[in-house]
Amino acid sequence: MPPTVVAIDGPAGAGKSTIARALAKDLGMAYLDTGAMYRGVTYEVLRRGLEATDIDAVARVAREVRFVQTADSLHVNGVDATAAIRSPEVDAAVSHVASNSAVREELRERQREWIVRHGGGVVEGRDIGSVVFPEATLKVYLIASPRVRAERRVAQHGGDVQEIATAIAERDRRDSTREDSPLRQMPDAVVVDTSDRTILEVVREIGGILKTRIVSS
Ligand code: C5P
Repeated sequence: MPPTVVAIDGPAGAGKSTIARALAKDLGMAYLDTGAMYRGVTYEVLRRGLEATDIDAVARVAREVRFVQTADSLHVNGVDATAAIRSPEVDAAVSHVASNSAVREELRERQREWIVRHGGGVVEGRDIGSVVFPEATLKVYLIASPRVRAERRVAQHGGDVQEIATAIAERDRRDSTREDSPLRQMPDAVVVDTSDRTILEVVREIGGILKTRIVSS
């Protein structure tokens, strides 16, 4: 039996982290936030004063960087970067780093090793169902209205709704139009709109679908 993998993809602010973390807890599965890994590389790139668009230098950072990641923290080369990886500077640079194919190759490899090590898990990102785990047990594509997505970010990290909405739209545009593993909705993904629903409702729905998949396989 291959390990159970739940792939959760979708644009920024659709509720991926909240839902994926709650679902993993509910199911007693491990949880991996792959966005935090791209943010971790970006954090280290900026810390070293490198340009996010410097392909070779950024690739080197991705290969060398050491992460210690839990469900709610990330240490980068021994430094607790949990809060710093959510800064506006990282937000603005991360999709440049994420469009670097060498970075993607390195992180994809680490994500696949993580699944082997944990014997399955709930993995959240942009290319999980499409590229990293195309054979995932269940693929979920989360969406939410632009307004709701911006308001969620503001509630978590503060800022101006209009400015955040513009920044999110720009990041989504870059993530969906890049050449390597762009954000896209897979035909076999279950689409869930989280705009007007509680975390519990969404977690129950996804958990229910997963159980029927496992029973019928
Ligand atoms: O999910 P989060 O918003 O933290 O992701 C930050 C960025 O990391 C995304 O905007 C995207 O550029 C990149 N990313 C990616 N592939 C993933 C996860 C995140 O390209 N699987």
